[in-house]
Parts: sequence; C-alpha cells; structure tokens
Amino acid sequence: MAEKKDYYELLGVSRDASKDDIKRAFRRLARKYHPDINHEEGAEEMFKEINKAHEVLTDDRQRSIYDRYGEAGLEGNPGAGGGGFTVEGDLGDIFGGFGFGDLFGGGGHRQRRNGPRAGSDLELQVTISLEEAASGCTREIEYQRNVVCDDCKGTGSHDGAAPAECPVCHGTGQVRRQVNSIFGTTVQVSPCTRCGGEGTVISDPCHTCRGKKRVRISERKSVDIPAGIDNEQHMRISGGGDEGINGGPAGDLYVTVLLREHGRFARRGSDLYTETEISFSAAALGCKIEVPTIYGAGEILEIKPGTQPDEVYEMKGQGMPQLRTGIKGSMYVCVKIAVPKSLSDEQREALMAYSKAMGEELEPAPRKETITDKLFGKKTGKRKKK
Ligand SMILES: [Zn+2]
Ligand SMILES: [Zn+2]
Repeated sequence: MAEKKDYYELLGVSRDASKDDIKRAFRRLARKYHPDINHEEGAEEMFKEINKAHEVLTDDRQRSIYDRYGEAGLEGNPGAGGGGFTVEGDLGDIFGGFGFGDLFGGGGHRQRRNGPRAGSDLELQVTISLEEAASGCTREIEYQRNVVCDDCKGTGSHDGAAPAECPVCHGTGQVRRQVNSIFGTTVQVSPCTRCGGEGTVISDPCHTCRGKKRVRISERKSVDIPAGIDNEQHMRISGGGDEGINGGPAGDLYVTVLLREHGRFARRGSDLYTETEISFSAAALGCKIEVPTIYGAGEILEIKPGTQPDEVYEMKGQGMPQLRTGIKGSMYVCVKIAVPKSLSDEQREALMAYSKAMGEELEPAPRKETITDKLFGKKTGKRKKK
C-alpha cells in the first residue's frame, strides 16, 4: 500500500515553514499543475492535492491538527475521540505517474518522511538605474543559502556511515498508539518524537553541519539583467535557492529588480518622456537641437518653425526596449520656451525692433502694472490691441 504524501513534502517546504513560504510554494506549483495549463494525465489530481495541502497548512487550527495527527486527524474528529485514524490512500500513485517517485522516494513506506525534501525558494532585490535597464546589465549578487554539507555528503553523520534506524519507530517515522474510549478502540498515529519523523537517527553527527545535513554559505553569482526590464519585475534563477535535503531538488532564487528614479526621463511601458528647453527665437524660426537619450549619445531633433510652448515631439526608437522583442518604444520630448531673465543692450535693441515690426508699442522701460493702468487700459510692455 502506498501511503499518502506528507503535505509539507507535497509543497516542498520544511515543517517550520512560514505561511508566506507555504503560499509562495503553493503558487509556484499551482502555476505548474493548473488544469488550464497542464493537460498531462494526473495534473488535475495533483492540483487538487496541492490545493488541499495549501488550505490545511495556511489555517492555524487545521495545521496544528495535521501536525499532531496527520491527514487522518482532519478526516476524523480527534476532539470527540472518534473517527478512524487510519492512514491510507493512493497519492503515491499520482506521484509515480509524474515521475516524482525518485524525488520523493515514493514506493517504500519507510521513506515517507526520510525521503527527499525540496529546498526553499529565496528572494532578493537589486536596484539598477534606468540606463542599465535600457541596455541590460550584469550584477554581482551575494546572498546566504543552505547547501548540502560537503563533509558528510548530506548524510549528517560524522564518519559518513548511513544513519541508523530509529529504535523507537523502527524506521516508520510514526508512532501508533491504541486508544480505548467509550466509542471503542482506535489507533492514533503521530510523528515519532525521537527521530522527528525521519525514521532514522544519527548516532555520531557530522562536526561541520552538526547533523543538519546542510550548511549555510555565502553565495556569489553574477546575474544578467535583460534590457527592457521594468520596476518590480523578477527573474527566476532555477536551482539558486536552498539545496534540498536527502537528495531533494533545490529551490529557486527570485531576483526582484527595482529601478531608481531618473532625473531626466520618466518611463511608461516602453516609452520615455522628457523635456527640453529652447529659446523663443529657436521656437519661432525652427532649428536643430541635440537631445540627450537614455543610451548616452545625443540625438538630433528638428524643431519646426512656429513650435509652441509644451509642444511634444516623438522620437521613434529612442524609448526603452521591450523585454521579449527588443523593439524600442518612443521618446517624447516636451518643448519648453525659455524667456531670458536679462538682456544685453544689443539684444534689447533687436527685440525692440522685432516688437516694433510686430506692431507693438512698448514703453522704453518695463515697469509694474498699476491700479490705474488696469482701470484705464494703459499698455505697459504688453501687446497692443489690433
Ligand atoms: Zn523514530
Ligand atoms: Zn555534515
């Protein structure tokens, strides 16, 4: 008889995993086995099982019952002393169908708890500039992860000897107890406390990992961040998380990319928005100006004669690249007209001549508008009515 899989093993989390860890593991598996995505035989059952495991382990009350009595405790009613505390089922078959047999040590019931356990996923953040996001970049990262202890090859034993069978549960990882009550005799099953449900004990623990089978190390990796990545997008580095126990698969590393704000460019999707300032005469006469781009080199933008304040020019291909296609968006340049704060005599004369040509009548020295000016409509440095 194949025994039911442990909920923790099912989700690939440790027994002391936090709710967040459980939720994250669930989401990862749900994406993989969702019936809409995965049409393989058995995927739907797997999806149901991980759903059940997630439901139980994220509910404090159900989780504590499960930890003490296993799945049977949830089906029966331990509070009333009734219910059948038997462990049966065919989850092992489902795993077999998926080729999970090797990973989880399916088959022999002895391996139920001593089987491979997947390592946890890990997360970390890196902050990059908009320029780096535009062109792509490589980042050195350093983080802590659990890896299989090299000295004991992950056995946890000092001399490399295989762990001994637990003398209390004889390798089953469970302790069965007959309970007599007014409802009759039932069998309670709980994890063995001597071996923590593993079924084996380490008589002489490895000096390096102290029998934990893994050690914590500082890992360095260089991560290629693709051009076009946006704020809060993450990259999955397969196998970059904690290594598993008893040959279980390693978790993944999720690197979340954060973009620093840019002083000159604002980003919306693959488009960039920026401003440039030109003089009144440049706007009126038209000109060519050089506009800085996110790629470093300035690009020439042709300003049409008669350009108005806040007019927007589109520069195609100067935006951010799309992550998958690499196709670059546009850079939108908003034109600001600069009004000089002071003038040289020559500039003043030229402007006066221009004003005269426009049919304006300006007083020689601009002064502040007074109440009487407003009342009687006297023009001071303003355009005359046509
Ligand atoms: Zn035991
Ligand atoms: Zn060791």
